[in-house]
Amino acid sequence: MATNRTFTMLKPDAVEKGHIGAILEKIAASGFRIVAMKLTQMTKTDAETFYAIHRERPFFPDLVTYMTRGPIVAAILEKENAVEDFRALIGATNPVDAADGTIRKQFATSISENAVHGSDSNDNAAIEGAFHFSGREVF
Ligand code: UDP
Ligand code: MG
Repeated sequence: MATNRTFTMLKPDAVEKGHIGAILEKIAASGFRIVAMKLTQMTKTDAETFYAIHRERPFFPDLVTYMTRGPIVAAILEKENAVEDFRALIGATNPVDAADGTIRKQFATSISENAVHGSDSNDNAAIEGAFHFSGREVF
C-alpha cells in the first residue's frame, strides 16, 4: 500500500449507535478519499491477530470481546500524509484527552470504546489494509 494511505475501522460501538454516516462525512470533509471499504465482523482469532501487539496488556481480553461483538466498517483511505493526518482527525485514544473537533471527542464514550481505529505508521497501514482487503477490493 502506498505511503499516502492509511487504514481505519469504525468500531462496533460506532456502528451500533448509527454513526457510520456521520463519521464518514467527517472523514470525507477532511480530504480523505475512500479506496476500499466494507462492513465486516472480526472473529476472535482476527481480533487477537490484529491487536497482537497488545497481547500482554490487561485490557486485551476486553478489547477482543469489544471488537468482535458486532460489525465494523473497515476502510483504506488516501490523502497526502494520510497516517499522520488521520491520527490527528481521530484524536487521542482516550476521548477525555481528544481535541475539540476530533472524531473521538465527538463519538467515543471511553478509552476502550473509542469509535474508530487509525493506523499508527505507514508500515502498519499496509499490514492492516492487507489484513482486511484482497488486492481486487482496493481501488
Ligand atoms: N484500549 C483500551 N484500554 C486502554 C488502551 C487502549 O481498551 O487503556 C483499546 C482502545 O480501543 C484502543 C485500542 O485498545 O483504541 C488500541 O490501543 P492503542 O494504544 O493502540 O490506541 P489507538 O492507537 O487506537 O489510539
Ligand atoms: Mg494503536
